Amino acid sequence: MTLKGKTALVTGSTSGIGLAIARCLAADGANLVLNGFGDAAAIAAQQAELAKTYGVKVTYSPADISDAAQIATMVAGAGADHGSLDILVNNAGIQFVAPIESFPVAQWNKIIAINLTGAFLAMQAAIPGMKARGWGRIINIASAHGLVASGEKSAYVAAKHGLLGLTKTAGIELANAGVTCNAICPGWVLTPLVQAQLDARAARDGITVEQAAAAFLAEKQPMHKFTAPEQIGATAVFLCSDGAATMTGVALSVDGGWVSQ
Ligand code: NAD
Repeated sequence: MTLKGKTALVTGSTSGIGLAIARCLAADGANLVLNGFGDAAAIAAQQAELAKTYGVKVTYSPADISDAAQIATMVAGAGADHGSLDILVNNAGIQFVAPIESFPVAQWNKIIAINLTGAFLAMQAAIPGMKARGWGRIINIASAHGLVASGEKSAYVAAKHGLLGLTKTAGIELANAGVTCNAICPGWVLTPLVQAQLDARAARDGITVEQAAAAFLAEKQPMHKFTAPEQIGATAVFLCSDGAATMTGVALSVDGGWVSQ
């Protein structure tokens, strides 16, 4: 348990990859600040289960990551409730798919706000405390779409490419402060975000969801299987470990070979 006594804030941790990252960090001893949307009773049950299973302190912030003031309150609250905020995982993200010429500007702005600006604002709020303590880990959940593009995902691809630029910049700025900043670039991970795309593809093409999943994998990944959310969680734990102490500004692909082509 290498993270005992540390506190990790994982944005968008009520579902999918974020929840798995939170679970893996807690299993390694970290106290948690959960964040994200969902049914209040279900979130409270999740909070209690994680605290009981791993013997760590778990709090929850309902902050909307598209809102600067709510992000500032969330980060300040994490420090106040836990004594310090040592690990920040910027994971909250949304998707919207349409060609550029019909891409709604409101959707563009929302994706940039949540998938990119929210990470910048959370980092801005968390970095001073990490620098003061001389230890910190910032992990940005980017995507294979931070490194390569796909059609009809202009806002998402732009935001994720931007997130990698932000990661590199933070890596340089914090290089001698004991704080690392790295990005994880997943390929296909079967979560509600991807399930919605599979359902849409199945409906559009008149095929089963299983056939849509096989098509998604075959189109993008040499390896024809989904990454499990827990495998992204394990990568996050590694990035928090001493073994990764000199890794910074890196985009780490966990993508079944997607960007090696
Ligand atoms: P998901 O839809 O299962 O979870 C998204 C989480 O973000 C949820 O907890 C949701 O409540 C939260 N969220 C959404 N909008 C928010 C907001 N405004 N404020 C606060 N929380 C908000 O999605 P996922 O697949 O687990 O995706 C998590 C991250 O991983 C995203 O950044 C996504 O781009 C990235 N990613 C996912 C995949 C994949 O295949 N699933 C691949 C590459 C990257």
